[in-house]
Amino acid sequence: MHSAYIEFATLKYCSSCGDAVSKRIPDGDDRHRHVCDGCDTVHYQNPCIVAGSLPVYENRVLLCRRAIEPAYGYWTLPAGFMENGETTEEGAARESREEANVELHSMELYTMIDIPHINQVYIFFRGQMAQPTYSPGIESLEVELFLEEDIPWSEIAFPSVKMTLKHFFEDRKTGNFPVRTDLIKRFRR
Ligand SMILES: [Zn+2]
Repeated sequence: MHSAYIEFATLKYCSSCGDAVSKRIPDGDDRHRHVCDGCDTVHYQNPCIVAGSLPVYENRVLLCRRAIEPAYGYWTLPAGFMENGETTEEGAARESREEANVELHSMELYTMIDIPHINQVYIFFRGQMAQPTYSPGIESLEVELFLEEDIPWSEIAFPSVKMTLKHFFEDRKTGNFPVRTDLIKRFRR
């Protein structure tokens, strides 16, 4: 069985006509799709991009403690699903405002992390905070600036966040921040 088939989100009804959909390989395709039994519309499912930021103020980085599941109570970088019509950088800036009420400047692409088994790609930008001004948005319990030695490594919400932080503190030693790519093969915390 094709792996993409296993990872299908459940779809029962056609969003165009309301008829039932079934999983089959459309003509000319090479994998199973949800196809409407009534109007033959093919409902493609493709990976989602999660855009996030690594906010930096002087020698500290900003983390948010999650007020929502999954990983309620764990610390994360501001990040979330991109919205239609925005760029990845705009998405990262928006999530930073929504989750931490923080404004970033000089944003630079930093990490891209593929997570194929959950059909997600994380893209993080490094961003500078002009002022140490921040507060929790509705999805955050608290927001705080951390020195490297104070990072709560055992309470980081997602592997992609941990990887991005580890790259940052390593690269900071040289002051050179090339774009880093990673692959996460299965969930671990
Ligand atoms: Zn239909």
